[in-house]
Formats: sequence, C-alpha cells, structure tokens
Amino acid sequence: MKFKPSLPIKSIVKSYGLKYYWIERPKFDGTQSCYSTDVESFYPLVGNSDPRTEDMQYVLKLCNSCPFKQQCFEWAVCHEIHGIWGGTSENYRKQFRAKNKVGVVPLEYVHEFFKNKNPRFAAFKPA
Ligand code: SF4
Repeated sequence: MKFKPSLPIKSIVKSYGLKYYWIERPKFDGTQSCYSTDVESFYPLVGNSDPRTEDMQYVLKLCNSCPFKQQCFEWAVCHEIHGIWGGTSENYRKQFRAKNKVGVVPLEYVHEFFKNKNPRFAAFKPA
C-alpha cells in the first residue's frame, strides 16, 4: 500500500528517505460527526491514545460514522502528531507513516519547512 493523499497537495518535500506532504485541510462544513463534541475527547491523556479506553471507543465510533473520515485521516497523517483524527490514534498514524515512509510536519512549521526546504524539520519524522 502506498500513501497518496486525495486532498489537494500544496507541496511535497523529500528528505532523509521520507516524503513530507503539505496538503489542504478538509473543508469541514458542520456535518462532521465531532462538530458538537467536546474537543478534549479527541486528545486522550491516558496511555498515549490507547484504543482500549472507553473514551477512545466513543470517539472512534464517531469517526467511523463521519463523512470526513478519509480526508481527516489523510490530513492527520501529514500534519497531526497528537490526538484522534479520522478514526486513528497517534500510535496508529506513527506506524502508518513509518510503513509508508511519510513524515509529519506540524502545521506551525509548515511554511518554513516548505518554503526553505529546511531539512532541520526532518526531525519530525516518525521514530
Ligand atoms: S473523522 Fe473523526 S475527527 Fe475527523 S472530522 Fe470526523 S469525527 Fe471529527
């Protein structure tokens, strides 16, 4: 399986054998299942997003019924280290990135990373 985002790609940087995608955020329109849910539920503090916890199960159910699930997952693979996105935990995405040789660039660094192609940010590659 090869990861290729379906969301529009703004830029790609290759560094240290990884591909870093800067993709457009999903265009959430209020129909996403988490629209009126407490955002904290998506950032479980216990067990590094362990999917066995009750909170995680609740959140994963929401994601599984969400029309944005695939886009949300793609976004998170490229840009989100923390939290539950697109029905996936932090650990799941970390493993997915490692398998697909994709790096994550936190959004706050995205402009500098892609403008300057600064390999310093390759530090954000999956462990
Ligand atoms: S997939 Fe999950 S986190 Fe993403 S918008 Fe839908 S409910 Fe929210």
